[in-house]
Amino acid sequence: MAGLGVITGFALPRMIKGKSVWQIDPFKCVSCSRCETECALMHSAVRCVHIPAMCGHRKTCPAFFDIDPLRPDAASRTQLCPLRAIRRAPVSDSYYSYTIDVNRCNGCAKCVERCREYGNGSLFLQIHHDLCINCNECTIAAACPAKAIKKVPADEPYIFKNDS
Ligand code: SF4
Ligand code: SF4
Ligand code: SF4
Repeated sequence: MAGLGVITGFALPRMIKGKSVWQIDPFKCVSCSRCETECALMHSAVRCVHIPAMCGHRKTCPAFFDIDPLRPDAASRTQLCPLRAIRRAPVSDSYYSYTIDVNRCNGCAKCVERCREYGNGSLFLQIHHDLCINCNECTIAAACPAKAIKKVPADEPYIFKNDS
């Protein structure tokens, strides 16, 4: 299900520039990787978001190590994220919590695609409005093959994926 704005225990930056902002619909995004390369900024304003309440603590995350998700026994210690922006912390008995280092993330969507295909969809992309310069014409929106980015009123800046 979709949620608008801020959900309990989790918030994206609220620093909004302008009366309207560009927004990604994570249900339309097809993880094409253009969010990394098409932003007017050198380091894209699009970053990955993780909803811990949707994911919980897990022994394995299909988006963490670069393994074949259909052969989880084929061990790899190479992280899928090229920027090592996904962090995991032990919780108990081989269970981990997973977080995103948004300062490293560049919105490449590799983890988003893996999570959608083999996980629970709790990783997705959003434009971070403390970083975005709110271009009149968002160059990512123009390039997006899924038409997943549009301008919306600033009081509804984010669409979340959540199960509440
Ligand atoms: S350009 Fe569109 S489809 Fe591609 S990653 Fe960004 S939001 Fe998703
Ligand atoms: S794989 Fe890409 S989108 Fe995911 S956390 Fe790493 S840099 Fe960000
Ligand atoms: S509005 Fe400009 S800065 Fe913001 S995400 Fe789009 S291209 Fe990047």
